[in-house]
Amino acid sequence: MIMKRILAATTASVLALAVSQALAADLEMANKIRHEGLYQSEVLHTLEYLTDEIGPRLTASPQMTAANQWTLKQLQSWGLKNAELHPFEFGRGWSSSASSIALTAPRAVSLHGIPVAWTPGTNGPVAGDVMMFDVNTEAELAQYAGKLRGKFLMMGEDLKIEPPNTIIFERLGSDKLNKLKDSEAGARPSYESAMTKALRASRKQAYQFNKALSAFLVKEQVAGVIYRSSRQGGLVRVFGKSHKIGETFGVPAIIIEQEDYGQLLRMLDRKEQPQLTLDIKAQFHDDDKNAYNTIAEIPGTDKNAEVVMVGAHLDSWHASDGAVDNGAGVAVAMEAVRILSKLKVKPKRTIRIALWSGEEQGLYGSRAYVNDFLASRPMPTDPAEKALPRYLWSSPGWPISPKAGYDKLSVYLNMDNGSGQFRGIYTEGNVAVKPVFTDWFGPYMDLTSGTVSPRSTGGTDHESFDDVGLPGFQFIQDPLDYSTRLHHTHIDSIDHVIEDDLKQASVIMAGFLYEAAMSDKKLPRKPMPTPASAVQQQQQDLDSQKEQRKAELEAKRTLESGQL
Ligand SMILES: [Zn+2]
Repeated sequence: MIMKRILAATTASVLALAVSQALAADLEMANKIRHEGLYQSEVLHTLEYLTDEIGPRLTASPQMTAANQWTLKQLQSWGLKNAELHPFEFGRGWSSSASSIALTAPRAVSLHGIPVAWTPGTNGPVAGDVMMFDVNTEAELAQYAGKLRGKFLMMGEDLKIEPPNTIIFERLGSDKLNKLKDSEAGARPSYESAMTKALRASRKQAYQFNKALSAFLVKEQVAGVIYRSSRQGGLVRVFGKSHKIGETFGVPAIIIEQEDYGQLLRMLDRKEQPQLTLDIKAQFHDDDKNAYNTIAEIPGTDKNAEVVMVGAHLDSWHASDGAVDNGAGVAVAMEAVRILSKLKVKPKRTIRIALWSGEEQGLYGSRAYVNDFLASRPMPTDPAEKALPRYLWSSPGWPISPKAGYDKLSVYLNMDNGSGQFRGIYTEGNVAVKPVFTDWFGPYMDLTSGTVSPRSTGGTDHESFDDVGLPGFQFIQDPLDYSTRLHHTHIDSIDHVIEDDLKQASVIMAGFLYEAAMSDKKLPRKPMPTPASAVQQQQQDLDSQKEQRKAELEAKRTLESGQL
């Protein structure tokens, strides 16, 4: 009987513990966040200002400066404190105020093109013949000496447009979400770039060829170069040449629709000698070689000054308004802190928002922030390697040296996979955070699938944190038509944004931030990253110890059998 009672009491207390653990999230606050975020939302208004009023926000362009200033002011007006711009060295600013490209012979057709970022303008309309220029190595350039003056060069081989075979617009079904949930942890134990030696060598060759190409085209007085868009269906998907001082591409360059490009190719095939007129107005802005991240915070109440962070990149490409890449992420991050500020939360940890610049050129802003405040890594010692872009370095730099902010940061949360609602979160192989995230999704499970995936995802600013062993996470978002049509194309405008998705994401982002700021402990971290070579060395040491023991055992046995 007594035994039974003890058992009952134990069961009850275990149950109570389970319930209290399941309800660790602040449910009343969750209701307030939901109410403010769903019924008094300002997220679309924020995005409208960024896209329709300011427009494209190419890193270090005048419009990006305007966006930095506006976000700073807006965050202050919502009551955020310590708002400031964090500078980092970037290079040249660039903008284009107008451009046109037209076929003038064998017939007159207006073409659709957008200049390549960080390339010069034309100084008025320029006319010339079109010719094919399919060259990939420095050695091949010589054969064109003296043949290119005043010509427009088509950059790239033959093109065949395949029938589209992908779904244009997608929401994640349970099959895909389950796959994400059940997949193996995609941790990179060494945290070294997955690039192989061969791939790095070929990328380095391409980088160096691009420099030689620019010098050659200038010397040969080429009129301009024509690239084809990497998307079909009339979408012009843009990119940029080097933004570094002293590395500017020398001749005007424009990206045109695949279908226009195909037309020019067929005319060349038929020997109809197409002629073009190109007019690009482009400006470089060299008054400031820095770019800036916008930073602001809701100060925490605890004395030990721990921090939770939310972020998204404020810069965009220049083809359109950067609505889903990544105005959406910025609007959601801003809305999340607006909601919390409006609710007058008193977080234990400081809640800090960071709106990055230079993401599109290689995570410059978030890397600079991590390097300045959280953890630094040594630069390459070889001056030739140091002069190369970071992605071509043979090592990310070891060891990692933590700075004052390193131990204070609990978590960094990022949104940059388009404007789709949150369906879950990637844990970057940090499997121990799963129960925590599952708990934080709890009050919002009617709005989301709350999938917690062990997998890693790449390509955006949470990587700058993860790379130095800090917990940085990107949400799993509905893909919508982000990568099929909008990513870096001329139709990345607010027309393609769904307000309810942004509201949902804002509510969950605010909920996560609040819980992260209030929880008893900081989030668990993965072990400090070590170089792959160290991991391999450890394995080799173990292997040789094993061999050693085996040899000793063999020797002993031989000895024993000899004695017998
Ligand atoms: Zn982006």
